[in-house]
Amino acid sequence: METKYIFVTGGVVSSLGKGIISSSLARLLLARGYRVTIQKFDPYINVDPGTLNPYEHGECYVTVDGHEADLDLGHYERFTNTPTTRANNVTTGRIYQSVIDKERRGDYLGKTVQIIPHITDEIKRNVKLLGNTGKFDFVITEIGGTVGDIESTPYLEAVRQLRWELGKNALCVHLTYVPYLRAAKELKTKPTQHSVKLLQQVGIQPDILVLRTEKDVPAGMRRKVAQFCNVDPEAVIQSIDVPTIYQVPLTMHEQHLDDIVLRKMGLEPKGEPNLEAWNRFLTKLSSATKEVTIGLVGKYVELQDAYKSINESLFQAATYLDRKLNLVYIHSEKLTDANAEEKLKGMDGVIIAPGFGQRGIEGKFCAIKWCRENDVPTFGICLGMQCMVIEYARNVLGLEDANSTEMDTHTPHNVIDLMEEQKSISNMGGTMRLGAFACRLLPQSRVAKAYGATEISERHRHRFEFNDEYRERFEQGGMKCVGENPDTHLVEVVEIPEKRWFIGTQYHPEYQSTVLHPNPLFLDFVKAAIAYGEEKNA
Ligand code: GLN
Repeated sequence: METKYIFVTGGVVSSLGKGIISSSLARLLLARGYRVTIQKFDPYINVDPGTLNPYEHGECYVTVDGHEADLDLGHYERFTNTPTTRANNVTTGRIYQSVIDKERRGDYLGKTVQIIPHITDEIKRNVKLLGNTGKFDFVITEIGGTVGDIESTPYLEAVRQLRWELGKNALCVHLTYVPYLRAAKELKTKPTQHSVKLLQQVGIQPDILVLRTEKDVPAGMRRKVAQFCNVDPEAVIQSIDVPTIYQVPLTMHEQHLDDIVLRKMGLEPKGEPNLEAWNRFLTKLSSATKEVTIGLVGKYVELQDAYKSINESLFQAATYLDRKLNLVYIHSEKLTDANAEEKLKGMDGVIIAPGFGQRGIEGKFCAIKWCRENDVPTFGICLGMQCMVIEYARNVLGLEDANSTEMDTHTPHNVIDLMEEQKSISNMGGTMRLGAFACRLLPQSRVAKAYGATEISERHRHRFEFNDEYRERFEQGGMKCVGENPDTHLVEVVEIPEKRWFIGTQYHPEYQSTVLHPNPLFLDFVKAAIAYGEEKNA
């Protein structure tokens, strides 16, 4: 079958959940046996989001092939259970970089290089990249930003051209917002009408409208929207707030989004999508009554998207273990030895978050010390693992002022140090150790048991590493290096076997946890937390 392209645009306001709608549609098409991928085009000038801090766009997600990506790619993977790559996330910066590189090489043969056609052609080439691999029946392309933004214009022009060129093989879904005015007690569709007008002005007629709303949009009102916007009445769908994003595929299916898409693209929908496993997850979610309380120690506690993949991994694990997740954010900057007990004693398990830089680091040490001494299940991820190592060096091995050279270049005990290949690097963008690497686990370790395997592959994003010169001392002291890279022998996992559950991973297991395949290490950690919680409260 020829590859079909679905474009998802947004209007009125940002943060409407284009990523969730794209992911939900992908889930439904996958459940009908099609091969689907989702890609995101971000209209900012950064070449990739790797150099953005979490205050800007939340977490930086990492793909298997080591691309630092928008966090929406995390949603795509969690919903579709299919890995994304560098080709799934393109920014304006990357588009321009590629066009400018071609110009410098002389590829344009003396022509004037312009937004149209050169930038739009480069966008179109990138839109089709995944489709041209022959691996996908559907390529869903989410266009970041909102219609009417100056920076989105070249993308919309590319979409307009592609729709023209691809005919029935292209379709546009437009997501808008229907606000409810409490004073007037009314839902308002005017912003939607204006947003569709803007889209029509740039030559794009949406095929399907998805209306985000907090209240039910009555059928009559949806018909009115259809009439004003030249859209079939059944193709005006509402996306009402639901308790969990994982329910959105079902609410979309109830309104026949998948059937409508297939018919509009010349495919006859056969039978029903197979959502059995997905529904099992949702049933578990709605029937859980008991809670598991996990503390997340980090410095971005006020940002709900900064640790997105960790939250989702914990949520998935808790759901599979028939528990409601009670996630408590604990600000690392406010933690001290004096208040650690008060802040942590209610936790069934504690996560020490990844991160960069000095801020909040001493609080992480206090949390780790308290958890280690009180034998609370503790899971350190990336910087969290490095902090576990430093805390152990200082407080158990007696290596005074041990540190990472990231925090203190003059530390007498550089138990965490810059990786050899990082020493000559000065550029910040895309230069960390990134992407999936193999890891060999010690067969008798807790991690190996958790994975049920001794050869695993997980994703990384770091510059610093465990300093091998100290390995012996740690091993003798009781902190074991139980996972290493089979080629470079870099230490990837540490564990204190005599503790209930005290594990640190240099890699980020949260990037590989999906609704249908929750990450084994998160499952094992939450299982240990549940057991500890029950023991504690018995
Ligand atoms: N800052 C640490 C490093 O670069 C850890 C990075 C992280 O937690 N992702 O090694």
